[in-house]
Amino acid sequence: MIKTIGVIGAGQMGNGIAHVCALAGFDVVLQDINAEQLAKALDVISANMNRQIARGKITEADRAAALARIHTTADIKAFAETDFVVEAATENEGVKKKIFADLCPVLKKDAILATNTSSISVTRLASATDRPEKFMGMHFMNPVPVMQLVELIRGIATDEETFHKVRDLTIKLGKQPANSEDFPAFIVNRILLPMINEAIYTLYEGVGSVEAIDTAMRLGANHPMGPLQLADFIGLDTCLSIMQVLYEGLADSKYRPCPLLVKYVEAGWLGRKTNRGFYDYRGEHPTPTR
Ligand code: NAD
Repeated sequence: MIKTIGVIGAGQMGNGIAHVCALAGFDVVLQDINAEQLAKALDVISANMNRQIARGKITEADRAAALARIHTTADIKAFAETDFVVEAATENEGVKKKIFADLCPVLKKDAILATNTSSISVTRLASATDRPEKFMGMHFMNPVPVMQLVELIRGIATDEETFHKVRDLTIKLGKQPANSEDFPAFIVNRILLPMINEAIYTLYEGVGSVEAIDTAMRLGANHPMGPLQLADFIGLDTCLSIMQVLYEGLADSKYRPCPLLVKYVEAGWLGRKTNRGFYDYRGEHPTPTR
């Protein structure tokens, strides 16, 4: 029985996962090494729940009860009593492996561990834990409270019981599971990120401006938001990491990360989370940076 859920990383994804787990009635331990990020996460969750109240999706009482179920901490030892932990820290294999090395000795023997990685091999991450059979990928979409899909990815060693428990949990959270094999970037990002990377090449080669590219894809391909706006939303560091995983994992030059994407990340222009990416969000309205 999963009653208490641990979430590692309180960034865009971690706060969204904590949000949906708490609303579904689970006790949540939300951990991050950055105290500022934890405080920000609670503010974001509260504001996002207010938006759900305004839309009539939840009540004020639901919000108060859910917020009371979220416990924030910087201490990994707080996961000792959790039944299930999902890791949603920075998309970097070394960072994730170090987290698992610190976490596993603290966890209950039968606790299930999942990763929200967008692209890294679940089998490889599992091998950095003491429980590869109780480990799998649970890939939420951004923004978590709004998006319906969760990709479920079994590593080579994941057992059936773990898979079924995580599938049941996905459904309890009100999400729709889709199974993916453990290939670089799974299904959604294998298809989505090369399109975003191509949009950045289109900008880099001067085929169109930021506004022209986004308008073209919104009105010409009926996408709800343009690919550069979406890249800012995902986070340009995350986009670059995913392209690197595709490039290295599939050894095909068609996945080469656009040099302009690399440059934006090197500048620290990571999109919405740093207030600047392909758009500048510091003014009243987003303005293109190219
Ligand atoms: P983010 O940069 O918003 O947040 C990452 C958080 O991890 C930060 O708060 C950081 O302080 C924390 N962190 C770093 N090292 C840590 C450690 N050792 N222990 C605890 N916390 C640590 O990133 P994000 O967009 O929330 O992405 C998180 C994960 O979710 C990544 O694996 C990413 O690929 C995946 N993901 C992202 C999206 C998206 O659209 N952004 C979608 C699906 C999955």
